[in-house]
Amino acid sequence: MLKCDVLVVGAGASGSTASLMLSKMGYNVIAIDKASRIGGFTNPKIDITESELPDGSKLDPILKELQIKPLKIFNESVWHSRNESFTLKSDVYDFYFKRGPTKDSLDYQLMRIAINKGCDFWPKTEVVKFNFNNGNIEEVILRSKRKNILIKPKIVVAADGSFSKCRKLAGIKELKSYCLEGFGARLKGKIFQETWVIFDSEFAPGAYIYGGSINNESFIGIVIDNQITRKSSKEYFNFNKKQNDFFRKFENSKILNLFGGKGKYGIIENLVKENLILVGSAGLLNDPFMGYGVNHAIFSGYKASNATIDNLNNEEKLNKYENFYKENFLSYFKKAMKTREIFKKLNNKDLDFIIRALSYITEKNAEGLKTVIEVIKAKPTSLGALNILYMFSQFLS
Ligand SMILES: Cc1cc2nc3c(=O)[nH]c(=O)nc-3n(C[C@H](O)[C@H](O)[C@H](O)COP(=O)(O)OP(=O)(O)OC[C@H]3O[C@@H](n4cnc5c(N)ncnc54)[C@H](O)[C@@H]3O)c2cc1C
Repeated sequence: MLKCDVLVVGAGASGSTASLMLSKMGYNVIAIDKASRIGGFTNPKIDITESELPDGSKLDPILKELQIKPLKIFNESVWHSRNESFTLKSDVYDFYFKRGPTKDSLDYQLMRIAINKGCDFWPKTEVVKFNFNNGNIEEVILRSKRKNILIKPKIVVAADGSFSKCRKLAGIKELKSYCLEGFGARLKGKIFQETWVIFDSEFAPGAYIYGGSINNESFIGIVIDNQITRKSSKEYFNFNKKQNDFFRKFENSKILNLFGGKGKYGIIENLVKENLILVGSAGLLNDPFMGYGVNHAIFSGYKASNATIDNLNNEEKLNKYENFYKENFLSYFKKAMKTREIFKKLNNKDLDFIIRALSYITEKNAEGLKTVIEVIKAKPTSLGALNILYMFSQFLS
């Protein structure tokens, strides 16, 4: 029977980060992915993610250790509602990463380095079953090329995304979760000077439209909250193409490829169960409000590999990883989930109000604050006003 120190299930951003870190330290790592090649789980796309996490940790030193450079590092964004907009030059930088099967993708680069450090990568391979002994995963049955393979890992890292099979096989419950769905296009040519975010309750219910450019390529995507829409994000994308004036700017741009997918956001019962450790989207470690997940995937893959190393070397409990998340992230995740609940009830008048108020607040001066009061007097809808006040108080407290 095959044995290994660590079996990593899923070679996206979180699984590849863990595989790289563990292989670099000389552990015997087998990484599997059900896709036929690295990054093959999605069409090429560009994800924008924040360089800073809610507990104040920064991705920069982790990326340096992983030898990974974002395609672009940028801090200027324009935030729109239907009738308002403001430009934000933030202290927190955005990192742009290519995702998917191309050689410049984050997934490809991380897993390539992991392979060079000795990681054994098996594409087209899925988890079928865990055999437990006293709650510990003793053996894993994998399926590859129509054959079953039995493997005995010391630790299993579940990095198999939002709809994680590992999570289900281990019987770990989702305490509260949301589903966001996205669809977009990669376009030829540089279209955006800044990163664009548009809030519009008709064109992107419960979430937003986003866009950005790197060198000679751009992207535009639409994200919707699955709970409040009957149509798919692809249908919304097509609806926007026909009805949203903003989309007319790109109607003559050449489409390089389309992309889409769904993600889950929320809180699960356990991030660690005996010798199983959940990272990235498998642990629902995505920002429940905006949907950012790449930063969480890299960070959790990194943190999980540290805990795994301490467990293999010094028999320290893997729970150290879970406790870190409970202490540093749980209250933020809970707040962000409440914000999502409120946000999706706001209409376009409310969203205009938020963008206008934020534009004054970001000016950070007394004149600006005075104007906020003027804006509040102009009132959003009464339900919207209550929701907005609650939303601000959640983040300010
Ligand atoms: C359309 C869309 C747009 C997004 N845009 C952004 C963005 O702009 N910025 C941002 O920060 N986040 C974004 N996200 C979220 C981000 O993609 C995720 O948070 C991130 O990819 C999580 O990384 P991961 O490695 O945990 O999981 P994934 O990237 O989902 O990787 C999971 C891997 O596991 C494999 N797998 C799945 N099941 C199995 C199985 N049973 N056996 C073996 N392998 C399996 C898959 O093939 C895949 O390779 C977006 C999500 C979607 C859906």
